[in-house]
Amino acid sequence: MKQGHIIVISGPSGVGKGTIVSKLLKQNPELHFSVSATTRKKRPSETDGVHYYFVSEECFKEMIENDELAEYAFYANHYYGTPYKALEEARGKGYDVVLDIEVQGAAQVKARFPEAIMVFIAPPSMAELEKRLRNRGDTSDADVALRLEIAKKECLQAERYNYIVFNDIVDDACREVQTIISAVNYEANNRFEHLKEVL
Ligand code: 5GP
Repeated sequence: MKQGHIIVISGPSGVGKGTIVSKLLKQNPELHFSVSATTRKKRPSETDGVHYYFVSEECFKEMIENDELAEYAFYANHYYGTPYKALEEARGKGYDVVLDIEVQGAAQVKARFPEAIMVFIAPPSMAELEKRLRNRGDTSDADVALRLEIAKKECLQAERYNYIVFNDIVDDACREVQTIISAVNYEANNRFEHLKEVL
């Protein structure tokens, strides 16, 4: 069976990656979400094992030492990383896997898996990004300020991605990301075997 694709959805915190990813997962049952490990505290709306694996710093460092992470980053005072085994298992079963990760980790994924499909979700403006971060209601003022500072640097990395999607109206952004994901199915390296069968 053909290995599933890696689809990286990256971009600044607050831009709406999570909303886009959850809509895509609903629309595409064949997509698999990569649940990250993090040392950040769980928010009330989150479930351990669904949104993240919430782990101690000691546990996270052990995962690094044991080479259990496909990538990881230290972001806004916490560690975040993608468990390697779950990623490879899902791909081995033919699932396309979506990673919702920040830009340092995304660069590591691209280096390790050059065929990964890299999508950067961009804000319509920095003022709108700040509004979205504040409206979440679960991020402190200091954390909003830190995330905004990081956001500008992250946006400057966007030209390394295959695609940039502006998230002004979320349904439009979803449709655009859906188009990108759907196009993957028409890649010649996926279709050529089938083409040979019809000759
Ligand atoms: P949050 O704390 O708001 O859930 O996430 C903060 C940032 O970390 C977001 O940009 C999110 O995409 C990113 N992130 C989540 N999981 C991972 C991961 O496994 N690796 C990396 N590098 N970033 C992640």
